[in-house]
Order: sequence, then C-alpha cells, then structure tokens
Amino acid sequence: MINFNVPPYTGKEMDYIKQCVESQKICGDGQFTQKCNAWIEETMKVKKCLLTTSCTHATEMAALLAGIKEGDEVIMPSYTFVSTADAFVLRGAKVVFVDVRPDTMNIDEKLIEDAITERTRAVVPVHYAGVACEMDTIMEIAKKHNLIVIEDAAQGVMSTYKGRALGTIGDMGCYSFHETKNYSMGEGGALLLRDETYIEDAEIIREKGTDRSKFFRGQVDKYTWVNYGSSYLPSDMNAAYLYAQLQQATKINEARKKIWNTYYAGLKHLEQEGRITLPVIPEGCEHNAHMFYIKTASLEERTALIAFLKERGVMSVFHYIPLHSSPAGHKFGRFSGKDIYTTKESERLIRLPLYYGLTENDIDYITNNLGKFQVRG
Ligand SMILES: *Cc1c(COP(=O)(O)O)cnc(C)c1O
Repeated sequence: MINFNVPPYTGKEMDYIKQCVESQKICGDGQFTQKCNAWIEETMKVKKCLLTTSCTHATEMAALLAGIKEGDEVIMPSYTFVSTADAFVLRGAKVVFVDVRPDTMNIDEKLIEDAITERTRAVVPVHYAGVACEMDTIMEIAKKHNLIVIEDAAQGVMSTYKGRALGTIGDMGCYSFHETKNYSMGEGGALLLRDETYIEDAEIIREKGTDRSKFFRGQVDKYTWVNYGSSYLPSDMNAAYLYAQLQQATKINEARKKIWNTYYAGLKHLEQEGRITLPVIPEGCEHNAHMFYIKTASLEERTALIAFLKERGVMSVFHYIPLHSSPAGHKFGRFSGKDIYTTKESERLIRLPLYYGLTENDIDYITNNLGKFQVRG
C-alpha cells in the first residue's frame, strides 16, 4: 500500500531528543528551540522567529498582536483550513471570505478591495500547496487601506515569492510543523515577525503574559505578569526533532521537488488529452512541493478516482470543504461577492501521495494507474 503521508525522518532526530533529555532541560525555549529560531531567522531573513505549539497557535498570537476585537472584519479565502478563521473568530471578529483563483487555489487578489469595509482590520493570504499568493498586489492594497497582513504560510516553509521567503512579506507569518507538513516536530509551528513592532508583545503573550523572556536574557532581575497572554511555547524535545529536519531542509526540499516534477512530467500527457488539470506555478513563485494535486472533471469523477486508487493500494484524499458552506462559516462569516471557483474547484481537487521517501517506483505505479482510470472512465 502507498500511504498518503509519512512523517519526515532524517536520522538525527532521536540523537537530538536524547541530548535534550540528558541536558535536563526539556521545557520550552531550551537549546533546540533557540537553534530552530535562529535557523529560521537566518534562512528566511526575518527579524524574529518564535517557535510555537502549532500554526493554529501562531495565528492566535497574530490575532492578539493585531489587536483584533469584537466587530472587526478579517479577509481570507474560504478554501483554507479551519485554523485560519478560528484564530480571528476567537477574538470576536467576522470572517469575510473572498473567492480563490482557479489556477493556484489562492485568494484572488483582484477581489480583495471589494471586500474591504470600514471594519476591515486584516488580510490573511493562505499560500496553498506552498505556492505564493500575489503578495505585491496584496501588500499594496493593505498599505492603501491601512490593513495588517498575516500570512498563513503553514504549507509554505522554504517557498519564496520573488526571492523572499513566504511568511516574511506580511507583518506576520505563521508556519506549521505538524506531522503532515514538509518539516515536522509532531505538533508545532512558528510565528515570524517581519520587523521590531510586535516582538516585545509577542514574547509576553507567548509566555503567559509575563516578561520571562527578558528575565532569561538578564534584562530584568525578576519576571512579572505584565499583560494578557497564554502558553504558546513548545517543549524543547519537540524542537529537537524539528532541528534535525531543518538541518536537512535543502535535502528534503530537493527530494520533494523531484517527486513533484516526476508526477508533473508523468501526468502531462493526461492534461494534454484534456483528461485532468494540473497545478499552475505562477512566474516569480518558487514552491516547496508541499503538495501534488490534480483536478478531475467533476465531483463524481473524483469520488470514483479515489475509490479506484484505493482498490489499487494508493491512498489519495480530497481537501478543504469551503469554510463558508460549513455551520461555523455561516455563523461567523460572510462571502464577499460570488463563489465562482471556491466550491467548484475544491470539488474537483484530489491530492496524491507526497512525502520524503516516496520512491520513483511508487510514483510510476500511481501515474500509470491514473492513466488506466482515465481510459476506463
Ligand atoms: C496545517 C495548516 C494549518 C494548521 O497548522 P497546525 O500546525 O496543525 O495548527 C493552518 N493553515 C493551513 C493552511 C494549514 O495547512
């Protein structure tokens, strides 16, 4: 059987976890957390990185830092993971959904301005499949209307837009290191801060509302409760697992891209024959091969294809149910303009197995079977 996902493992993870345990400092902000933060700051060229317990929590921190409150509006695509919306709904905001572009499944930057009202406070571009949103346009709109940009770069670690790392272009960026992402620590994430503005407040919110980070740096001689906050720092044992992966990030990235390109080349003829649609990578976007998806003609065809592949031992999956059509989406959000592509395109999309260690043989087997299904269909 070919699994849909296998968590990445490169060899050093157990060593580092052992080192962490033996150092007798296993709580948050230990040596491995610091190493991960420094690695991300240096590699992504970002002012500050704070490792968190998840991307969900990084986004919650971003919502707190942005001062989102009851009655504010936050613009995002409906085609995203629930966490993107949850973080702002928890602060009492209304979520305003904008349609996606059919080529990338990212928010359609041309529709954002129409969704802005006097209550709009933030825009949350989600870089689907690790392929960048049209950030130049989004940043321009945000500047014009004085909006905060929070990038959901959960899937975008090691991707770039015009040479800049995803998660570092907006005011804040959120990474995920969940088991299903390119680099993992089981559960985990990071909040990236582009400039000085939010750093001090972010450290306080992450440490239960205390100035403990300053205390550990020797900047104050005791730490106290200075603001509201929560506990968003992961155990150093998890960071130890992640650090092993970050050290191998280029190798993992190259391996994933090779898999992605092999799929693409192997399926090109099916697209040329008009039987499937392949993903599009716009000019200026260097992606991290987070995902390989294809689109079928219809929902019915997709359901049949998932079953067909399963019978042949290949696990494939569909992805997001658009948030605006869910019970919570009705309660907490509204769709701006028309849903032309969000529902239609999401129903056609199917994700194929892609993980570090997937073999050429596996990919051949999968692409061959996709060809057979189309012939039979
Ligand atoms: C995975 C994912 C998240 C949530 O990440 P966690 O680390 O599991 O909280 C949020 N947004 C998107 C787009 C994701 O893919």
